[in-house]
Amino acid sequence: MKKLFLLFCLAILYYGIHAQITDPVATEVWEPEPKAVHPGSVTAAPSDAVILGPDAWVHKDGAALQWDVADGVITVKKGTGAIFTKEKFGDCQLHLEWRAPKVIEGKGQGRGNSGVFLQNRYEVQVLDSYLNRTYSNGQAGSIYKQSLPLVNAMSPPGEWNTYDIIYEEPHFNADGIKVSSAYITVLHNGVLIQNHTEIKGTTPYIGLPKNPPHEDDVIQLQDHGNPVSFRNMWIRKL
Ligand code: MG
Repeated sequence: MKKLFLLFCLAILYYGIHAQITDPVATEVWEPEPKAVHPGSVTAAPSDAVILGPDAWVHKDGAALQWDVADGVITVKKGTGAIFTKEKFGDCQLHLEWRAPKVIEGKGQGRGNSGVFLQNRYEVQVLDSYLNRTYSNGQAGSIYKQSLPLVNAMSPPGEWNTYDIIYEEPHFNADGIKVSSAYITVLHNGVLIQNHTEIKGTTPYIGLPKNPPHEDDVIQLQDHGNPVSFRNMWIRKL
């Protein structure tokens, strides 16, 4: 009798599950409804983006921007130092366009070098990597000294490049220990060059990555002494 009851229960359970998965409505999710966003063209900012125009940037300690600004294009002014967004960011989608100088000067790391630092720590290399060999994990689109790009999608000197970056910030516990890494996806001129790449830590010139804890932080553009230009920068917080 007990066995019979158990079998009965199992039959009811099976029927219940079976009934659920044959009902198409059971697997429909209606809430929340994803917010409607009007897409731009390939490069134009979508409606919910924060525009990172010239007025979004400052030097160290909030000093006014000294890089050259003309028609919305910001160009590194050698020796003035890096620039930083006024606003801090975590997870984000970042679009920017950059151009190495048309007149070729220097070679390797000395040619068209700048960089985009997510959370002021993790550099996506900006470099004139058009017919300009350097170490692979230091060429354009590398996560500097960590991860080489999948391909070299570089435009010739003097022509614009786009970077579309999807960035997931790292997380730290209350003791300051990293419990999950940052991840980054990068498209260079629309070509996938970093595919959900784990960021192992900071991206120093000398030495290995480090993982000091941090919260949301600014985006930095590097002054490496070369007049690299930037335009049409926008960011979406995720
Ligand atoms: Mg650099």
